Amino acid sequence: MIGLISATAAGAAARDRLASAWPTRTRVYEGPVREAVGHAFAECDQLVCFLATGAVVRLIAPLLQDKASDPGVVCVDEAQRHAVSLIGGHGGGANELALAVSEVLPCAPVVTTATDAVDIPGLDTLGWPVEGAVAAVTRAALDGSPVTLYADAVWPLPALSPNVAPDPASGSAAVDAGTDAAGRAADDMIEAVAAAPVPVGGVAAAMAATAAHTVLADAAVGGAQAGPAVLRVTDLLVEPGAREAVLRPPSLVVGVGASRGVSVDEVLGLIEAALADAGLSARSVAALATVDAKADEAGIVEAAARLGVPLRTYAAAELAAVEVPNPSGAPLAAVGTPSVAEAAALVGGGELLVSKRKSAPEGRPAMATCAVVRKQPRGRLAVVGLGPGARDLLTPRARAEIRRASVLVGLDQYVDQIRDLLRPGTRVLESGLGAEEERARTAVAEARAGHAVALIGSGDAGVYAMASPALAEASDDIDVVGVPGVTAALAAAAILGAPLGHDHVSISLSDLHTPWEVIERRVRAAAEADIVVTFYNPRSRGRDWQLPKALSILAEHREPSTPVGVVRNASRPDGTSRLTTLAGIDPTTVDMMTVVVVGNTAAREIAGRMVTPRGYRWQTEGS
Ligand code: SAH
Repeated sequence: MIGLISATAAGAAARDRLASAWPTRTRVYEGPVREAVGHAFAECDQLVCFLATGAVVRLIAPLLQDKASDPGVVCVDEAQRHAVSLIGGHGGGANELALAVSEVLPCAPVVTTATDAVDIPGLDTLGWPVEGAVAAVTRAALDGSPVTLYADAVWPLPALSPNVAPDPASGSAAVDAGTDAAGRAADDMIEAVAAAPVPVGGVAAAMAATAAHTVLADAAVGGAQAGPAVLRVTDLLVEPGAREAVLRPPSLVVGVGASRGVSVDEVLGLIEAALADAGLSARSVAALATVDAKADEAGIVEAAARLGVPLRTYAAAELAAVEVPNPSGAPLAAVGTPSVAEAAALVGGGELLVSKRKSAPEGRPAMATCAVVRKQPRGRLAVVGLGPGARDLLTPRARAEIRRASVLVGLDQYVDQIRDLLRPGTRVLESGLGAEEERARTAVAEARAGHAVALIGSGDAGVYAMASPALAEASDDIDVVGVPGVTAALAAAAILGAPLGHDHVSISLSDLHTPWEVIERRVRAAAEADIVVTFYNPRSRGRDWQLPKALSILAEHREPSTPVGVVRNASRPDGTSRLTTLAGIDPTTVDMMTVVVVGNTAAREIAGRMVTPRGYRWQTEGS
């Protein structure tokens, strides 16, 4: 719940506007502001105070406890010029709240958290538990001083600051586990620094300069201590040094078996002891796993809830098929699989770190078993459509995915379109036209190595673009996220009017990858079916006869006066659009930056716009 507090008439008006925009999420606190702030602070997750920051600082100062439990607080000034994220920028969600408020009210968000200000992801924004000297390591990252990274494996994290890198002197030895994957991680990270779009020194200097103005309480720990800061990514129990932060990756799955009626304390006690004895952190547990028959066993369900992780359940037959070191007769008789704990943890593979272990309650038989498996990290491939060109047609989700990635793969001209959005330290793998196969392979290989990869394309990345070759290469060992983009046909249609109001089809006239006979057959089918057609890749210097040929096929079934829209560089600064007809179109005005939209037999030019009737009765009856 978001508590709203105001003092003046103008403040109350702004408050009411926010309350009516978010009716279910907000509660208005009336009365004297001191009491109102006190109540809201105790009862709400977040506060928006329509008061001066000075007043709010004085009011909340005696109430502050700690970063983890205090609500996020945003102040909006009397003239609604600023929404200031005052406390709880990350944990309390105040930075995002300031942004959200500025979408409802005319104010601009003011965010002073150092990591946001210099555009590197805060360690507490990665969605993983983080321990140790978070402020000191963040400060070092901001200051551009070296932060040595030790990671058990490559995880699909966003680009960290370029000065966060494995110790180049020790090479892959800096990476604890020393596995192949980890070794590659080290090499890749070094490469990332080398390939950073801005020289490392430049970023560091820029960050330090900005940090000097913006570092607030978040990074109040001094940067003068000796020794490099350390960022460790591990599921192992470690004692972090004075300048060391530990990120807990979601690497462990705990399989659990239990007799009916087991208590949560017995299950949780067993899991905690098993993890501690193996030197593993409970904060790296990603899930509990068991057999379907135990899906509602209260002790297991509650244990998962207390650990804050999901409970995954599997059919007995599926568990029976998993090879395990310690099968036994008891679960086979009870639930139909010779192993529950080990098998459930091992579904989908992984390394068995703790084999089946029983609880040890005093004076009665054990009721629970568990086993712990470490999973290989899964890389992440985001296939992102950038839209037709204009920045405001790039979706917020596409922007977020570009900034979520540590590796960006794309055609050089598309990379140029969004280079300013990349986080410092993002590794950019760009290539020229024609290297589609290489791009697809590279993107998939990087994701399989564990990285967070964004593969970009103009318009929609799945329309005559990289999504299909990439996914044809990809196996099920990576996560794939698709982000739709505004494809050229839609961008052009919006400029022309409403040409796609009825059934429509897109046809690419490029016969580089598709034999002309196939293209011609499809054009003919669209012509016969009276479907609106958008031609992509309509004409290039070496391919000039295909467009006239396709138009002549359509003309066999449509009047010479059929409207045709020719849109070049839709949504870009030099964009043009022309409305002509099947008889009137001049193919020489068409190039590879153009789409050509041909109406069906019902399409009309109305008031200079291209309209394909939807076929509503109320429109045809009167005419
Ligand atoms: N994935 C892209 C299409 C790639 S095929 C998309 O969804 O839009 C390349 C063709 O798309 C070009 O030859 C042109 O026909 C069309 N195209 C792409 N962007 C365009 C734009 N801004 N204006 C007009 N046509 C465009």
